[in-house]
Amino acid sequence: MTRKLFVTTALPYANAPFHLGHIMEYIQADIWVRHQRMSGNEVHFVGADDAHGAPIMIAAEKAGLTPQAFVAGIAAGRKQYLDGFHIQFDNWHSTDGEENHALSQDIYRKLKAAGFITSKTIEQFYDPVKNMFLPDRYIKGECPKCGAKDQYGDSCEVCSAVYAPTEVVNPYSVLTGATPVMKSSEHFFFKLSDQQCVDFLRNWALQDNRLQSEVANKCREWLEGEDGLGDWDISRDAPYFGIEIPDQPGKYFYVWLDAPVGYLASLKNYFSKTGRDFDAFMADPSTEQIHFIGKDITYFHTLFWPAMLKFSGYKTPDNVYAHGFVTVSGEKMSKSRGTGISPLRYLDIGMNPEWLRYYFAAKLNAKVEDLDMNPEDFVARVNSDLIGKYINIASRAAGFITKRFNGVISTDWATADDAFLGNLRTAAPEIQALFEAREYGKALRLAMEQADLVNAYVDANKPWELAKKPENDAKLQEVCSRLLEAFRILTIFLKPVLPQLASQVEAQLNIAALQWSDVATPLPHLHTIHPYTHLMQRVDPKIFDQLFDAPTASAAPAATAATTEAATTTAAVTAATGAASDIEPVAAEINIADFAKIDLRIAKIVNCEHVEGSDKLLRLTLDVGEGRTRNVFSGIKSAYQPEQLIGKLTVMVANLAPRKMKFGMSEGMVLAASAADEKNNPGLYILEPWPGAQPGMRVG
Ligand SMILES: [Zn+2]
Repeated sequence: MTRKLFVTTALPYANAPFHLGHIMEYIQADIWVRHQRMSGNEVHFVGADDAHGAPIMIAAEKAGLTPQAFVAGIAAGRKQYLDGFHIQFDNWHSTDGEENHALSQDIYRKLKAAGFITSKTIEQFYDPVKNMFLPDRYIKGECPKCGAKDQYGDSCEVCSAVYAPTEVVNPYSVLTGATPVMKSSEHFFFKLSDQQCVDFLRNWALQDNRLQSEVANKCREWLEGEDGLGDWDISRDAPYFGIEIPDQPGKYFYVWLDAPVGYLASLKNYFSKTGRDFDAFMADPSTEQIHFIGKDITYFHTLFWPAMLKFSGYKTPDNVYAHGFVTVSGEKMSKSRGTGISPLRYLDIGMNPEWLRYYFAAKLNAKVEDLDMNPEDFVARVNSDLIGKYINIASRAAGFITKRFNGVISTDWATADDAFLGNLRTAAPEIQALFEAREYGKALRLAMEQADLVNAYVDANKPWELAKKPENDAKLQEVCSRLLEAFRILTIFLKPVLPQLASQVEAQLNIAALQWSDVATPLPHLHTIHPYTHLMQRVDPKIFDQLFDAPTASAAPAATAATTEAATTTAAVTAATGAASDIEPVAAEINIADFAKIDLRIAKIVNCEHVEGSDKLLRLTLDVGEGRTRNVFSGIKSAYQPEQLIGKLTVMVANLAPRKMKFGMSEGMVLAASAADEKNNPGLYILEPWPGAQPGMRVG
């Protein structure tokens, strides 16, 4: 029976480009969706930008843009990532779209009518200069426990204490520096503590196979904890970028109320664009609603979200599947330290997106486990398994069929020595079931075991030996035909993970798009294939030097704002088309406040040395007058010997987030000049101040 599936990934916050963790989640969901499509199911796979909230309002203001324009700039950058990694959403929308305004307000009105909305007056810190209530993260001050300065309003990074913003000593507003005052305001609450909610959630969350067991256990803890569930504050006061609460001027929904409603809004937007009936689809009891999310937002998706939907009369989710975080060589990636690996950089330096899809898939399972990105492991899995075991089958067989037999397959599939093809076909249902269960690592392991059997057949029949004697032609044609049939079946096994490669294989084998049901239908006798062209390159391990390299002054650092990203793209396009200008185009205009964010300092190079295993980097030890030194990796090895630099002064970006690189942590970036066409004009020139400048002086 054909299933009807509505599948989403978590909505990314629209204040920054995607990081590797987003791409991992999208690949996980995309593989599942492609598996469903290959099974003949009806799937609607949608995403959207999470556009609302104070952080975006404030970031937009700093950028001199309206929040709408700011979010639009971020949204415009999404496509290159999604297309680049073959992530095939049916629709990408925004939580600021009209559908989301209407749906969020409708859900609120229905919750209110059913008695699930209450209000009370609460006291909160207020910035008297900015005239707005301050979220905890916009308050800083001295830690009430250890006295450390400049700690956030909710926790101390020095002693790890957790506290209320009102306990902070000498609090100040991060936005204006003003001392906040206490001010009261009426807030609206969703009555999550209502017994009906608790009863519903217990049944919903603990139903068999709805949630992963570790998530279901967490829900039980939340539901049965001593304090039970508290009511949920769903309102924020103006100024706020969000959706207005009906009949409550100056009050907006807290961003976490309308963000998940964005799943429905994106589907509705997509259905209206494609002439489908949203209400009928959602009312159909056979429709399955499935959310892929990160483990950090399970609370929102397993308590607030289903309860909101239930008591406003909407369909509740069928499954919520949480995954872990991506770590790089065993270290946690974090926003404050940078993302470690930029997905765009991965694509820009020419790494194959399907290597990453294969690697992630090989490491993914149905549990809530972190996934480690490790260069050696990556190279081994791609080169030994994907290329060595799978791609090589085609390269060994297809060449002979093309060169010796005009591309014609010839074999009688009914003969007895089809044992290995029979084995392959028998493995299909189990592999299919593992994709269904999101056990991709196990699915690929089984597929590779089958590839091993096919390679054993290659070794037993040695087509390269057969090819030496013309009297063996019939046997050679048959062996290679069987190998191509085996390769076709293996391609079906891998297609959810490697859609681009599968479509190349389909074109080369001259067959229609492969589905799971095609496992049983072999290539027809006397079928003609197209000439073989190489399907996939091996990974050169050296490319990881580029992936992890700190950007030099000539390569724009990972963009964090839409404007920077646009500027980077412009430069890249110009370089690619070989524009005649000698200088790189000047980046998009910024204002003085943008420039002031970059803290440039005079640094003394107290030591400099080669980095073992890198042909690009030098390791610099810098003194910026802080009473400690900093470790910085710089891609200037081609231009300088370490001893030329020791003792010199230079200029560094002192407030760049530390970057985890293959060789260690890089705590800043030194400035160097380079030409736009680095290939023809490879010189690199590090900056040096005039005599008199001292380490630690600010440059500006
Ligand atoms: Zn402290």
